[in-house]
Amino acid sequence: MSLTQADDNGYFGSYGGAHLPPHLVEPMAEVAAAYEEARKDPEFIAEYERLLNVYVGRPSPLYLAPRLTAELGGAKVYLKREDLNHTGAHKINHTLGEALLAKRMGKTKLIAETGAGQHGVALATAAALMGLECEIHMGAVDVEKQHPNVVRMELLGATVVPVSDGGATLKDAVDSAFNVYARDYKDTLFAIGSVVGPHPFPSMVRDFQSIVGREARAQILEAEGRLPTALIACVGGGSNAIGLFSAFLEDEDVAIYGVEPAGEGLETPRHAATMTLGSKGFLHGMETIVLQDADGEPSPVHSIASGVDYPGVGPQHAHLKEVGRVSYVSATDAETLEAFQRLSRLEGIIPALESSHALAHAAKLAPTLAADDVIIVNLSGRGDKDVDYVAELLGKSPQ
Ligand SMILES: *Cc1c(COP(=O)(O)O)cnc(C)c1O
Repeated sequence: MSLTQADDNGYFGSYGGAHLPPHLVEPMAEVAAAYEEARKDPEFIAEYERLLNVYVGRPSPLYLAPRLTAELGGAKVYLKREDLNHTGAHKINHTLGEALLAKRMGKTKLIAETGAGQHGVALATAAALMGLECEIHMGAVDVEKQHPNVVRMELLGATVVPVSDGGATLKDAVDSAFNVYARDYKDTLFAIGSVVGPHPFPSMVRDFQSIVGREARAQILEAEGRLPTALIACVGGGSNAIGLFSAFLEDEDVAIYGVEPAGEGLETPRHAATMTLGSKGFLHGMETIVLQDADGEPSPVHSIASGVDYPGVGPQHAHLKEVGRVSYVSATDAETLEAFQRLSRLEGIIPALESSHALAHAAKLAPTLAADDVIIVNLSGRGDKDVDYVAELLGKSPQ
């Protein structure tokens, strides 16, 4: 069974597929067929890579963090600087790919849901660049909570649709966006924000993010003349993680860690540790590991970082866990907040709270390794968006 490629039905081992209501089967099959052609077209790939270079600013540096390395003691810690991308995170890598595919398919509009707004902003950016319309569905509760991202999306020319059905949060926004898509798919592409959802998205978003791992592999060989001892990335849906991991899955000597949010603790209900505590189920058109109740309803989840509080995970990750190729571990909110402050203080880099989960695991792993070991941490995004929230947290619980 392949670690890297889904079968024709979009399954990675026993996870994945396209589990859709009848009215969405045809639209999604059209996307799969179009992507299958696009990914083999050298012109499509060349245009994608050109934009990564001139617009996103790639390649992103692989930075040896000397003061962090010294303080942790043990392995050398390198950071893959996705925080330096245009818009400040890895998400632009796949939204550009999705927007290019939409253009190629003759679509005029992109539609998506967003929770905290980060996917919405990255998609609205790609839509502006390519002259596509963009419609972002967002729970009314999130529209209130994430006001700055709503302003950004609107400045970028997107229409933000507040959804007040149900609990007025992400799940309701997903339903609402899918309903509009089912009606308008002739001229619209639904653009998913991670390696989740029905086939082809887990494979397609992974392919667009795989630039991260290809660059990191070449950069570490150049810098150290060897492959890393370990890779670490945070896992929400799993796109930044799989982007880094893909280039190393077949290198058995490279240990790989995906870090999930343990929130307020695995023994409490306030976490989003899907791989650690979830079970097999169905969510958003895929068969995967899900945090769910007895009726298969997704559980409410929590993390200090809104980009990783998702009750499911991409199916390729579920498969990589099952075959034992990747170790899925977790970091609590408290460990994450500490890692956030440590990197800011030692390296002058304020990381996203999402990425700080990976840094928290690096702080546990590095001291157990030797000075000639090498760790690469995927710094998936920058933390400017998090500073007000962190100030509030630190005000409530001074160090
Ligand atoms: C959205 C986001 C994540 C989580 O998404 P994945 O698909 O798991 O990568 C992680 N880091 C940042 C900075 C994000 O914006």
